[in-house]
Amino acid sequence: MELQHKDSTQSKGTCTCSWCKGSGKRGRRTCPDCNGLGTLHLVDCPDCLGTGVSRDRGVCKTCKGKKAVSSVEADRIHTAREKYDGYLQNPAGVFFKSIACYIAIAFTARSVWDQMCVTLEFLFDAEMIFPSGFILLLALSILFKQWNNLIKGSTNDADGSKPRTIGTVLFIVGILTAIIAGPVTSDGFGWMESKAKNTLNDKILKSSSVQCLEVELSRKVDYTYFGKAKMSNGESKDIVARFVKTGRSHTRHSHLKFKVTVDLL
Ligand SMILES: [Zn+2]
Ligand SMILES: [Zn+2]
Repeated sequence: MELQHKDSTQSKGTCTCSWCKGSGKRGRRTCPDCNGLGTLHLVDCPDCLGTGVSRDRGVCKTCKGKKAVSSVEADRIHTAREKYDGYLQNPAGVFFKSIACYIAIAFTARSVWDQMCVTLEFLFDAEMIFPSGFILLLALSILFKQWNNLIKGSTNDADGSKPRTIGTVLFIVGILTAIIAGPVTSDGFGWMESKAKNTLNDKILKSSSVQCLEVELSRKVDYTYFGKAKMSNGESKDIVARFVKTGRSHTRHSHLKFKVTVDLL
């Protein structure tokens, strides 16, 4: 962060907005931190109260001895401190929140992973990523925020090392839950299996008295999947399922178009 002190008794000066690097833009949008100005006001560092010295007489870790931080950073530190104080008063709240996140991640990670195994491009289609992907990302971001608040809120607190460790562990467990529930336990066929079953029942077996109970895919070559369909009359038939992209129109709100076709062998 570049500091440019001005001769003013009121203002501590301004600094270049570190989030947009002074451009005032983030991608196509106006930078929300500096409202497009490219600069931020400097205020007294909340952790050392503008002295640049930490409580243990070392250099303040938050402002790195510069005595001031940007107004946006100061707001974030205040919020993190409030959350950290909340944790000290009620540690169980953080654990309950984490457990709720783990459950959400465990239930959604596999379906997101299954979709991702069909095609990554497909995953970014807004219609498909909702709700599983949305819930997964939300749960991970809650865990991340919780961890970030415990770290930031306790920077200059000598007793903060235990909460920091707990926050880090809770966040890492969230990521491990996502990996175990997704890439480790999934064979990547789950999403295609349910689509293939629906296609069989809705199209091919529509007027038949026999219905497909379950599809089990075991092998794929590009977007062609091979497996077996269990029928309601006890038979098991070999099937080939194909994921077919039918193109994407170039308008902004369009969705990737696709269909799943199935052939009974
Ligand atoms: Zn900015
Ligand atoms: Zn400081």
